[in-house]
Amino acid sequence: MNTSHEPTSGFVYLVGGGPGDPRLLTLRGAECLRRADVVLYDYLVNPQILEHVGPGAKKICLGKHGRTRIWTQAEINDRLVLEARGGKTVVRLKGGDPVLFARLAEELDALGSANIPYEIVPGITSALAAASYAGIPITQRDGASALALVTGQERTGKPYTSVDYNALAKFPGTLAFYMGVTTAPAWSGELLRQGMAADTPVLIVRRASLSDQTSIATTLGAVADVLSRLRPPAIVIVGEVAKPKTKNQGIQSSWFTARPLFGQTVLVARPVHQAAALVAPLQELGADVLLQPAIEIGPPDDWSAVDQAIAELSAYQWLVFSSSNGVNSFLKRLLETGHDLRSLGDLQLAAVGPGTARALKRYHLQADVCPREHRAEDLAAALLDAGGGDAFLLVRGSRGREVLEDTLQNAGKKVTKIVAYLSQDTPRAAPLATQRMAANEIDWTIASSSAIAKSLVRLFGESLRKTRLASISPITTQTLNELGFQAEVEATEYTMPGIVDAILQAVGARENAPRKKINKEQS
Ligand code: SAH
Repeated sequence: MNTSHEPTSGFVYLVGGGPGDPRLLTLRGAECLRRADVVLYDYLVNPQILEHVGPGAKKICLGKHGRTRIWTQAEINDRLVLEARGGKTVVRLKGGDPVLFARLAEELDALGSANIPYEIVPGITSALAAASYAGIPITQRDGASALALVTGQERTGKPYTSVDYNALAKFPGTLAFYMGVTTAPAWSGELLRQGMAADTPVLIVRRASLSDQTSIATTLGAVADVLSRLRPPAIVIVGEVAKPKTKNQGIQSSWFTARPLFGQTVLVARPVHQAAALVAPLQELGADVLLQPAIEIGPPDDWSAVDQAIAELSAYQWLVFSSSNGVNSFLKRLLETGHDLRSLGDLQLAAVGPGTARALKRYHLQADVCPREHRAEDLAAALLDAGGGDAFLLVRGSRGREVLEDTLQNAGKKVTKIVAYLSQDTPRAAPLATQRMAANEIDWTIASSSAIAKSLVRLFGESLRKTRLASISPITTQTLNELGFQAEVEATEYTMPGIVDAILQAVGARENAPRKKINKEQS
């Protein structure tokens, strides 16, 4: 037990955030970010990685070239020590690996002198990611048995060069240059002077693993000229492994850039726990996906109506679900209150669409009625066609359309409606989404229901015109129209995979290129 009055010492995690693709952060890195009180991060770190940081933590950017003042190394060291001395758990988050060309030694010295405990969490360094994401093996059994990671930028004012270009020119393997864009004339000039051949293959990988990655094949003799037209960050790979697969120099394609939605930024507005059904397939297809939490789903204020319905299930012939949230909330409550699936007896089950039917399947239940399209009108018609009893229990959320209830009642059916979950609007748009929307950087925004469409308009207002809207169904498109917005595409099948397909087709048609058919089960 700590009996002293001194504040308990904090802890510093020096974490590598990886090259850019947020999914290349290590599990340990994510864990450290979740537990941090304070995060000091470099501007090159993808802001999406910061989504792992808890809501109460302080996030401090250490400056961006040309935009804000850049912290000096001494200021960074002092702040690390200060926060840790105050008992805080601090993450110092760096791009790539935290050790490589990242002035880690100076931070370790400062922490060591102040007796502050720390851990170093490696990250995927940009040279390795650049090669892999450009589709080239950076070492090869024949001809590239070694790899040198080299900085193109030596400390300014250094009286001598510690990079031995003579040795590098003879290096029996691959050279990977960091910070080599503005310094290209110097380092490539030195290599040529030391006798490296001007036709040595070179591959430049700019913004590796990000949604605008480009790789360009050239030669050592031409690299300075090519780089004079590019902005950092880039990794420059020099050696036989950089030789283009075809004869053509210039822009190269790879497994990463050839994915059908590569280069498309998609905003998914969904309740967080339901986002995966859209986020995962979009990411697999190569899209850069931003998440805007929208509409929070919570339990009803009062369960008594639901509990009473559960107690009286035998009085109904039909149990009807208008959403997968309804399925999950109702069946969870049924199980939590000591019942099991036998309580459903020989009730017939109806689902508004395939997504809701899938939710039932997860409870080993088969929908007896499920219209192909997610629409209350179709469900009402299908139920009236099906016959088999007049007492309907409708399970729904606190918001929704009244069509189903009205239609059944008008047909003389006995209808009981219960609210099994509340849906509430998210008060504010996520800062990253707002910023990128305003900067015209979001290609697609998905309206996956009428409620989400309304939410999007409320959260983003006129900025929503700077993106293309993908609608799940004609009803959602109509809601958008009523709000003064147009849908660019509409799903043919009114499901999440249906929206993904619609975007794929639109992107494919736009690029006028044949696209591989996407397996629905995967998407
Ligand atoms: N610690 C980092 C390197 C920091 S030095 C790491 O391990 O990757 C900064 C340099 O890293 C940049 O000048 C550039 O050469 C390289 N770099 C960082 N991110 C990059 C990216 N996404 N694509 C290409 N190069 C990148």
